[in-house]
Amino acid sequence: MGRIDTLLSKEAIDERIQTLAAEIERDFEGETLTVIIVLKGSFIFAADLVRAINVPLRCDFLGLRSYEGKESTGVVQITHDLTRNIEGEHVLIIEDIVDTGLTMEYLLDNLKTRKPASLKVASLLHKPARTKIEVPIDYLGFTIDDVFVIGYGLDFDQKFRNLPFIGVMTPDAD
Ligand code: 5GP
Repeated sequence: MGRIDTLLSKEAIDERIQTLAAEIERDFEGETLTVIIVLKGSFIFAADLVRAINVPLRCDFLGLRSYEGKESTGVVQITHDLTRNIEGEHVLIIEDIVDTGLTMEYLLDNLKTRKPASLKVASLLHKPARTKIEVPIDYLGFTIDDVFVIGYGLDFDQKFRNLPFIGVMTPDAD
């Protein structure tokens, strides 16, 4: 299976989340926030982030698929849509990673048509080396190199989401 090296420890992630949450709290003071959790990869980040944000908020979930194995197909598909109308609401998208930017661009275009009062993006990770489309990330956890990461919600072939840290998998040499 190969070796998994820690790229970002649980402690480093926890600390960064507290900082992001404080920024979000300051920016949305006095408002009610609608958080859109992009499935599946961001469920663990979102669970930790929302618990650190002390403003009234609603959570909704959007299922997207844009990746098969390790390679982006560039094709984005909604596998589960929002259950509520977000018109006039302050919306924060929570994503695990912005890689090429194709998924986030699709999502921003799609959600803008639903007329939220404001639309912001929080992403745990960003891989600028792979950018195809520049997208705004209002709250960014970490910038990482061009490596395929797993853990803390991120998968490889649907496995490893349960690792408590972000790791890099190095295949066995054979
Ligand atoms: P993008 O459309 O920006 O290229 O890709 C976004 C999606 O691809 C992410 O939400 C995530 O599901 C997947 N992805 C991109 N890079 C990685 C990675 O390094 N590891 C894993 N597990 N998924 C990734």
